[in-house]
Amino acid sequence: MNTPRLHIHLERIEHNIRLIAQQSREHGMTVAGVTKCACGHPAVARAMQHGGAGQLADSRLENLRRMRAAGLELPFMLLRLPAPSEAEDVVQLADISLNSELAVLQALSTAAEKQGRVHGVVLMVELGDLREGIPPAELPRVVQQLLTMPGLRLRGLGANLGCFAGTIHSREHMQKLADLAGQVQGAHGLRLDMLSGINSGGLDLLASGDIPGAVNHARIGEAILLGRESSHRRPWPGLLQDAFE
Ligand SMILES: *Cc1c(COP(=O)(O)O)cnc(C)c1O
Repeated sequence: MNTPRLHIHLERIEHNIRLIAQQSREHGMTVAGVTKCACGHPAVARAMQHGGAGQLADSRLENLRRMRAAGLELPFMLLRLPAPSEAEDVVQLADISLNSELAVLQALSTAAEKQGRVHGVVLMVELGDLREGIPPAELPRVVQQLLTMPGLRLRGLGANLGCFAGTIHSREHMQKLADLAGQVQGAHGLRLDMLSGINSGGLDLLASGDIPGAVNHARIGEAILLGRESSHRRPWPGLLQDAFE
């Protein structure tokens, strides 16, 4: 009679995001709640929404579609580089996507124009993890082209660390991101409203107060769902590790 089942304690998820959002706020950052590890389950997403997430972020379009259908209200962020063939769906389902290829940006702009929308873009820059991103030296050229695309709005820059090469978040990485944003803003006389610097692997750095003020956005999944930072997989003080039983 021991049927395997998974209990998801939504109030524990909400507790975790609330604490992370509060600690982030103290350091001038907002948090996107990353839903991919719960397959975009609407109840999990709603717990993140209640607990203070600024956006809901997922790496799968079907998960975004599921959350949209459930009536979640926060802006949606697609967390990975779209394929050109997905451009129409991306523009329809996501308010913002993370990008690092001109051909994809062109496809997104065309799709957005067709749908009468303006799609938000965060350009990823490669800071050593080797998973994704534009090499910093190529950023000016990409930005210049992006700014000519009528369907797109450059919302900001982002970096992803701690994934492919396991690079640990450091103050230097965050400073590099802030410097690049400063250069883009200076060169084009614009303001970037989103500098997305960390995932759950950056909580130590956040708590140390060593993230430059310009970096104002975090994308957090594991710490909300499992209660731990992900550089060393240590429980994070005050978070609950048993939201999933
Ligand atoms: C999954 C993902 C995150 C969240 O990472 P966690 O370690 O679970 O917080 C952040 N950014 C990107 C681009 C991701 O794909």
